[in-house]
Amino acid sequence: MHINDYRAQAHKMVDWICNYYENIGEYPVKSAVSPGDIARQIPSAIPEDSESFDLIWKDFVNIILPGITHWQHPHFHAYFNANTSFPSLLGEMITAALGSQCMIWDTSPAAAELEERMMEWLRDSMGLPLTWSGVIQDTASTATLCALLTAREKATEYEINRKGIGLNVFRIYSSTEAHSSLEKGVKIAGFGKENLVKIAVDERSRMDPQKLSEAINLDIQNGYIPLFVMAALGTTSTLAVDPLAEIAKICEQFDIWLHVDAAYAGSALLLPEFKWMIEGIDAADSFVYNPHKWLFTNFDCTAYFIKDRAALIKTFEILPEYLKTESRGRVNDYRDWGIPLGRRFRALKLWFVLRSFGLENLKLTISNHIQWARDLANKIALDPNWELMQDTQFNMIVCRYVPEWISDPETLNKINEVLLNSINSSGEAYMTHTKLNDKYVLRVVFGQTYLEKTDVENMWAIMQRHVETI
Ligand SMILES: *Cc1c(COP(=O)(O)O)cnc(C)c1O
Repeated sequence: MHINDYRAQAHKMVDWICNYYENIGEYPVKSAVSPGDIARQIPSAIPEDSESFDLIWKDFVNIILPGITHWQHPHFHAYFNANTSFPSLLGEMITAALGSQCMIWDTSPAAAELEERMMEWLRDSMGLPLTWSGVIQDTASTATLCALLTAREKATEYEINRKGIGLNVFRIYSSTEAHSSLEKGVKIAGFGKENLVKIAVDERSRMDPQKLSEAINLDIQNGYIPLFVMAALGTTSTLAVDPLAEIAKICEQFDIWLHVDAAYAGSALLLPEFKWMIEGIDAADSFVYNPHKWLFTNFDCTAYFIKDRAALIKTFEILPEYLKTESRGRVNDYRDWGIPLGRRFRALKLWFVLRSFGLENLKLTISNHIQWARDLANKIALDPNWELMQDTQFNMIVCRYVPEWISDPETLNKINEVLLNSINSSGEAYMTHTKLNDKYVLRVVFGQTYLEKTDVENMWAIMQRHVETI
């Protein structure tokens, strides 16, 4: 492709993107293809000769697009949002154009220094301790793995990095509701998943600190070494908030690494009314939050904050001759702050987003999402055919359909499953489910960047219409 062809295609593509966003509501939210439908249409080998971009693009529209689930659709209410925004798209475009590999300061000083500032902007606006350092990681899963490894190394004076896992049996704790990425990290870090202790939760799905304390004491009696606790601010299933201050006290008492997973709900910390969630944060050691979920910055962009940055660097640094630089020690070489050597310039899109929105608009957008979700929750609570399963603290409603004429729990579960499938297969909206005390319940998240109040009202109409069809 010649640069002039690139210019022409790029202009067309920006037009396509704008049309896509203007008409995104017309697409079926969830792709309806069956396994193998897309692969069957892709040749089994690289073409021998160059193909025209017009042809490639035609195939994108005809083959690929039908297999896309439209995450930026206003009726995408599934999982948690992975939202983007126009300033973020512009940042990503320039990051790709620069094509810089930002492994160390020397390989693009601006990328390293902008990343440092962006992490300070987030840290300070969210109310995290001013002495902490931040680094952008690809995902919360990676950040949690980094926390596990740093805790492991700090506790053993960096011995396991040198000699490998010995006979020590470390114990890791979280609530039963913690995200599965912790279990994955526990396996990768060599702790063994049998040493992940899952603490029971209360009626609002929050970790029970009393039970945590008991589990730690029992483990000590049995010769285990309590190493790491993960507290969740916003669990995946129901956005439950673990009582951080009480958990922090226990971690201090036993000298245990406290990691905080606020991957999704961390955005709410920009609002003063949610600062209570991080009461006790000074006693924590690390904190993970995903701007790529509910801060309008396209995937991937995870903010990982750490109290003891020296421990982080000591865990991950490695210095082959070819990476020695004259600036080392005076600058941040982020390849020492995590697992991969190579790093994308992710701070740019975050900078574009934070400046283009400004703090006030970020807060307004987030608080609108929460307010609109609460307004709908109030309506659902008043409808005798529906049951609201928990308070709507954030922008997610957890509810189920409970018509008077059904009392059998199994039938209620079944009918909610049928309702969910009916909505999702219609292409009108996309939501997911969870189970609460064996009850099949619907999770409806309102976090799309350009969501409007009418979209939330329409969603209620869609839910009621599908109740009639089933
Ligand atoms: C989404 C999520 C994760 C995992 O995030 P990734 O960035 O996809 O690894 C972890 N914890 C919570 C609470 C989440 O919501």
